[in-house]
Amino acid sequence: MTARVLVVDDILANIKLLQARLELEYFEVLTATNGQDALDICHRERVDVVLLDVMMPGIDGFEVCRRLKSSPETLHIPVVMVTALDQASDKIQGLDSGADDFLTKPVDDIALVTRVKSLARLKMLNDEMLMRVSTSRQLGIGDNDMLARILADEPARILVVDDHPRSSSRVMSALSKTHEAYLEPNPQTALMYVAEQPFDLLIVALNLEQSDGLRLCSQVRSLDRTRHLPILIMADAGDEARLLRGLELGVNDYLMRPIDRPELLARVKTQVRRKRFSDYLRNQIRESVELSITDPLTGLYNRRYMERHLKTLIADAERTGRALSVLIADIDHFKNVNDTFGHDVGDMVLKEFAERFRRYTRGVDLACRLGGEEFLIIMQDTDKGLARQIGERVRECIAVHPFTIGPETETWVTASIGLATWEGEGDTSEALFKRADTALYLAKRQGRNQVVAAAA
Ligand code: GH3
Ligand code: MG
Ligand code: MG
Repeated sequence: MTARVLVVDDILANIKLLQARLELEYFEVLTATNGQDALDICHRERVDVVLLDVMMPGIDGFEVCRRLKSSPETLHIPVVMVTALDQASDKIQGLDSGADDFLTKPVDDIALVTRVKSLARLKMLNDEMLMRVSTSRQLGIGDNDMLARILADEPARILVVDDHPRSSSRVMSALSKTHEAYLEPNPQTALMYVAEQPFDLLIVALNLEQSDGLRLCSQVRSLDRTRHLPILIMADAGDEARLLRGLELGVNDYLMRPIDRPELLARVKTQVRRKRFSDYLRNQIRESVELSITDPLTGLYNRRYMERHLKTLIADAERTGRALSVLIADIDHFKNVNDTFGHDVGDMVLKEFAERFRRYTRGVDLACRLGGEEFLIIMQDTDKGLARQIGERVRECIAVHPFTIGPETETWVTASIGLATWEGEGDTSEALFKRADTALYLAKRQGRNQVVAAAA
């Protein structure tokens, strides 16, 4: 999806200039020549980023920004103030009115594209988040406070990599007012820190005296553990070529020296928010994937997943001729546990059972809860003899230690186990499963707490 950028300026030539540059980068551009039109468009249409001229007759840029940021419908649209004068007072007033970032005229190409891209990505994550919040509200579940928490801009953990004493102390003092900031002059040490500790943002000086800042950026992007860490670089005028390389490497944004304090804080805020949104969404996706394949009570794989996986493994065994066995375990007289101690204690026993089940299976084995008090293990590279050994080990790990079911309360639990081994070409997962189930039935009938292997 391309981002839609609204360009607001009272001078048509300025609009045309920005429009041409943005369209080169495939942004969709909407335009307005006064504050009121801009407000109307933002309420009527989807807008991902607003580029807002400060000085306009009628409602000026600051006021437009203030109104956008105070209406619930437009509050989440990022606003970039375009100021003619590079004046600190303008930036401060812009920040007070709620602007997310600044550009100064004449607008620099790299700056324009980087800022708009960065804010458009943030906006898309924002939208995604709002959608999820509304879905979970409808379902009556979920962490609805998350959006508010992210937008509250809690202090971030920031690592600054800079070996210029003067510039770094300025940056550190600006950051330390609101954030937890650490300074590290050596990029290799810095890499170790960000790989091992949770940081929200990395700020790197492009021109380190002793080493190469870009190298660090590329290392951070390629390590699995730090791939998602936002990076801001600090560049000097005249270093545009390396700055561009950095942006190509995946650096998220940059600041030019001398570092301007409000600008620094605004960029930090945007990057940290984006990181927090995407972390949250990634976690949600992982959780929902886990939910769809695991059993919530025990954390073992669920039946649906097991059935798919068993088919895959059988197809694999057909190709390679490797042995494959399954084990089904069913807790003996589990109804008694519920009847005697209550359903909650029953659940505790199931969890503990699953825990032992998992602990006594090998890494390659797949343990799952079939439902109720029935469990299954798919054992790869396992023939009849080995299956029997594993079956006996599992039976023992349940039967020989009591289950803790409360302070100083224990109970004994046993399980019956049925085994079946894949018989080669033509033997299906359904048939294999059925034989294990029949063996389990035999184990129950012969007195429980025992292992029975299916005859071929
Ligand atoms: P058997 O030795 O023949 O297997 O006897 P059993 O009592 O274990 O078997 P039965 O199938 O008669 O009872 C299983 C019980 O497991 C009945 C059901 O209420 C209970 N159960 C199933 N799922 C859960 C669960 O998630 N939590 C709890 N606490 N109990 C469950
Ligand atoms: Mg103007
Ligand atoms: Mg049972």
